[in-house]
Formats: sequence, C-alpha cells, structure tokens
Amino acid sequence: MKRIVFSLFQPATLALIVVFWASAPASLLDKSWAITAASIATLAMVQALEFANERHASWRLSAREFLTDLFYVIVYYAVIVAVETKLADEPLASAKHALGITTTWAMHLPFVVQVALVVFLVEFGQYWMHRLMHNSFVWWTHAPHHHITQLNAAKGLVGNPLELLLVSLSVIALFDLPKNAVFCGFNVLTAVSAFAHANVRFNPPRWYSYIFTTVEAHSLHHSVGYNETRCNYANALLLCDRLFGTFREGESECVGQEERKRLSIRQQFMFPARPLIAMIKAKPGKSASAAS
Ligand SMILES: [Zn+2]
Ligand SMILES: [Zn+2]
Repeated sequence: MKRIVFSLFQPATLALIVVFWASAPASLLDKSWAITAASIATLAMVQALEFANERHASWRLSAREFLTDLFYVIVYYAVIVAVETKLADEPLASAKHALGITTTWAMHLPFVVQVALVVFLVEFGQYWMHRLMHNSFVWWTHAPHHHITQLNAAKGLVGNPLELLLVSLSVIALFDLPKNAVFCGFNVLTAVSAFAHANVRFNPPRWYSYIFTTVEAHSLHHSVGYNETRCNYANALLLCDRLFGTFREGESECVGQEERKRLSIRQQFMFPARPLIAMIKAKPGKSASAAS
C-alpha cells in the first residue's frame, strides 16, 4: 500500500494542483498572497512527508537545518519575489506594453497547455542560467546552494540571495496568460522542486522520472566532486537535460562541496565576495613576484 501511495504521490499532487487552480474563484486570484500561500503549503506538505517515508537517515531534519530552511523560505517569499517583480517583471511588462507585443493566442489555449507553457518557459530559462552558473564566474553565487550537506523539501531555496534572484528571472511577463494558469505553473514548479530536494523515498512511474526532475537525479547534481555536479541542471523539467545532453543516471546520498563543508547563513551571504576578499588580502609584493 505504502509503495503504491509513494509511487502515485508526485503525479497525483501535480494533477490536484492543476485542478485546484483551474477551478479557483476569481476572488482568490485577486489576492496577491494566494500563490505564496499555496507554495508554502506545498513545501510544508512535502516536508511532512519526510517523516512518513524517509530516504536517508543522514538527511534527517535537525532543528538547525529546519531553522535555516525556514529563514530562506521567509527571505525568498518576502524579499526575493518582491525584488524580482520590481526589477524584472514590471519593467518587462512595461516594455511589452510600449512595444505593443501581444500573444493573445496564448489566452485561447486549453488550461493544461497554458500551464505547460508557463512551466516550459520558466524552466528553459532556469536550465540555461543554472548551466551558466556551473560553467562561469557566476558559480560564486550558486556555490552556497551546493554547500548544503543534506537534502530536504525547502532546500531548493537555500543559497545566496543573488543566485535566488538570478534563477527567478523569467520571460513570463511578456506573455498574455490568465492569472490562474501562471499561478498554477509556478505552483507545479514549487512542488517538483520540493520533491527533487526532499528526503523522501518516492517510487515514481517511469514517465514521471523521464519528464520531471527526481530526487535521484538532483542528488547526483549535488555530488561532492565539482565535476560530478555538472549534470542534471533542470530544476523541474529533467526533459531539458535529456534534450541538451546533460542528463546523467544515478543518485548520491553524500552531498556538499569542498568536502562537505556546511556554510553558516552569514557565509552563504558573503560567498560571492570571496574572490574580492582574497584579492584584497593578497600582498601586492607577493602577487607581483607571482606574475613575473
Ligand atoms: Zn547547481
Ligand atoms: Zn538543489
């Protein structure tokens, strides 16, 4: 029975999210907190599952891990989302207006297709941003996320704020789409990302693991060796990795960079400044002789 429940749980949750937003009353869609409340409820539900069917005892949530995760949930929904809306979504929507860009065809698509479009557009951008982070200096913003030493439902939000801001960027504001489809798409992405970071022994159907990121695929992405992290970049649509040649089969219980060095919140915030601090600390005489 337990096996069946944990086999169907992920696809059933996604289906329920779609049904919920498809039938959401207009009064709920007008509330700016509606998507935040639904996302936090989704995270809390996946977090609770960790106590029902644990994956690894070594990933069990301690009080310290819980408080860190909670801190980042608050930072993300209270600050990052607001900053991203002000600095990216609103200017993009204004530019769309000024340039007369319209995608009214998107308003006439079936609801499920609209949701799939939101998921694909957000995920396509995130995939390439994430891949860039692993292959350029932008790694300094993303590395704190790879310093986590265990996976839990809300760990997708643990990282440097700059990274959280960068991966939140999307072109959704350029599209004409009903509010409930956009909310539904983001809710689906939150659910899949929570599943992919959760300490839960899921047993999803093969089609689900083919399309969506699983904890197996994502734990491999969190491997200890830096080179081993350069695969399975998709936050939610593993299909992107399959299409762009970065998918790798496997999983890893042992996670964390620099030999699993756990960072404090302060260290996570300061991490991107590390190269700058190292440069300032380096003695001018020393660097001159090294260059010669
Ligand atoms: Zn990564
Ligand atoms: Zn992750």
